[in-house]
Amino acid sequence: MDLKAPIKDGEKVFKMYSRRLAKLGIFTFADFLYHIPNRYDDYSLISDIGKVQVGETVTIQGKVLEIKNRYTRRFKTLQKAKVEDATGIIDILWFNQPFLAKSINAGDLISLSGKVEQNLGKPIIKSPDYEILESENSDTIHTGRLVPVYPQTYGVSSKWLRRQIKKLLDENKNKLEEYMPIQILKSEDFLDLKTAIEQVHFPKNLENAVNAKKRLAFDELFLLQLSNLEKRKEWKEELSGRAFETQKFDKEIKNFYKSLPFELTNAQKRAIREIIADLSKDKPMNRLLEGDVGSGKTVVAAVAMYCAFLNGYQSVFMAPTEILANQHFETIKSLLTPFGVAVELHTGSKKLKIENLKLKIIIGTHALLHKKDIDGENLGLVIIDEQQRFGVEQRSIIRNKGKNPHFLTMTATPIPRTVALTLYGDLDLSVLDEMPLGRKLVKTWLVPPQKREGAYEWIEKEIKLKKTQAFIVCPFIEESESMQTVKAATVEFEKLKKHIFSSLKLGLLHGRMPAHKGRGLASGGKSKDEVLDKFRAGKIDILVATPVVEVGIDIPNATIILIEAAERFGLAQLHQLRGRVGRTDTQSYCLLFTESKSEKTIERLKSLETIYIGAELAEMDLKLRGAGDIYGTLQHGEVSLKVASFSDFALIEKAKKYAQAFLPSLNKYPKLLEKLKDISAKQISPD
Ligand code: ADP
Ligand code: MG
Repeated sequence: MDLKAPIKDGEKVFKMYSRRLAKLGIFTFADFLYHIPNRYDDYSLISDIGKVQVGETVTIQGKVLEIKNRYTRRFKTLQKAKVEDATGIIDILWFNQPFLAKSINAGDLISLSGKVEQNLGKPIIKSPDYEILESENSDTIHTGRLVPVYPQTYGVSSKWLRRQIKKLLDENKNKLEEYMPIQILKSEDFLDLKTAIEQVHFPKNLENAVNAKKRLAFDELFLLQLSNLEKRKEWKEELSGRAFETQKFDKEIKNFYKSLPFELTNAQKRAIREIIADLSKDKPMNRLLEGDVGSGKTVVAAVAMYCAFLNGYQSVFMAPTEILANQHFETIKSLLTPFGVAVELHTGSKKLKIENLKLKIIIGTHALLHKKDIDGENLGLVIIDEQQRFGVEQRSIIRNKGKNPHFLTMTATPIPRTVALTLYGDLDLSVLDEMPLGRKLVKTWLVPPQKREGAYEWIEKEIKLKKTQAFIVCPFIEESESMQTVKAATVEFEKLKKHIFSSLKLGLLHGRMPAHKGRGLASGGKSKDEVLDKFRAGKIDILVATPVVEVGIDIPNATIILIEAAERFGLAQLHQLRGRVGRTDTQSYCLLFTESKSEKTIERLKSLETIYIGAELAEMDLKLRGAGDIYGTLQHGEVSLKVASFSDFALIEKAKKYAQAFLPSLNKYPKLLEKLKDISAKQISPD
């Protein structure tokens, strides 16, 4: 079995399971070995049957004397067994697993782990984990040891995973070659690779498990950062790009600033300085511009495009959706046409004519990716808005259209600096950590439960008096939009409509609704578009929505957002949600509700009342709740960590130091180089 082989090319059972396994991040057989247990069940105490103590969690091993199905009322079944060893007999009981009477037979040698209870004065083990033993000395996987418990998913149990991993390990462990420089292993006292992988799954003791995980977490961070540093070095040293004249056009650029109806923020000025410095080098820029919604990224992008124009080069600006592309088109056009720049739009529904593809600024969606006729020769700058939505591969397609054009990606996703530097270590980073002056911050309150009625009354009054509109975000139950979440939203919607806001018009929006009106729409059902159009047109006063309120949604007249069960969100997510309002100079409001009584939770949520910088809130999430929330804000398909944690700052730092130290002499470590190649291959095509 080739460990690098994709799961879907494996035996039949793997073919069948490949989709489910993909949900767990398992795409190749090697990924199984890096599927790290959440925890371990301690079944290492092996006891004689005659000596078991009530209350103890033990493993017993013996011969099955009998096993029977018992039928009880309401079609429930019990499976009763008796197991014997040299010291005694014990009763075993399972519930509703009738197949057990077929897979376990009298006479089998069995190993069972579970908690000993008392039943009519006799010890009994209920619902134990079990495995049939070939012989008395057979190795155990599911009992009689520290048993790994894995992240599982529908149809893929921890037990099944354990079996596959054990088998793969037995067959392949000698193929696991050490690639880590010996100096690192020695000075950090790390386990060797083979031992680490073996011990993380089937540890002899907890200390081994901890050490194994530490080694693998280090590897992950080290390899990721090394690979990023390598890409960065390649970019900076080997690629040649076009140096733009920037000083020569100082006057033009200053005139552009003067034409703006506002003064640039210091953060914008700093970002522009950094970008212009990049553009004037003969190495292609590769920079990430991070800034909250409204922090003014577009004008920064416009300056960069204007520079390209002044130097006679074309810029391409890609947005994730057609709506956003249109919006950018209007903005950029109004900013730059006064300076003689032709700006054009190219999207799925509005395609450019071939002869226009040589224009100096083209704005579009990823339809641009498939445009063969983009003037590569002349392409000097590529800008991508909301880069998470684009895979690394797509990025490289557009990049390769030109001759190493300068590259700027922009994101409003709040990513803490440490995470950005780990994940995007190959990029330079500029952060807009300041909002334009005079921008009204969304007034945010954590509303105590006893003020709920008052809050509803206030919302109704605001809507009636000021003709404003509101979002009500329902609690979400699961990460993805499940039927349960949809149901909860529907129930909340009915309640609000009938009992609370009966004199207002309410609409419902959730992720299971079809995007557009048309085929496949049950009669009476509504599409997202229809509901949003009505809301935009003011025909709906309050939009009740699941948290999937599209990030791009822009309804300037809405000035109130109420968020239920706020404790279930990360701060950065809440911050993104409240960004749905506050889009004009009218004062906007965000009301947070929680049923939680925990002081910590309340304090955490209250920080939204005073902190308005996304990256700062994301940093707090990381410190308070670990990296889970970060994954929530990152889009699917993003590189993420399997073993290590973003909150382990010390390990991140350590891995980075080693990566920097080993970068110059990488050629001396052929195995490490090979491992790095695997990693970049994976980053380019995650599935
Ligand atoms: P985002 O970072 O979300 O892309 P935009 O670039 O769309 O933000 O800017 C949001 C709004 O703020 C726009 O209307 C823009 O004209 C305005 N804006 C940008 N910079 C400033 C500034 N320095 N002062 C005042 N308004 C600004
Ligand atoms: Mg924007």
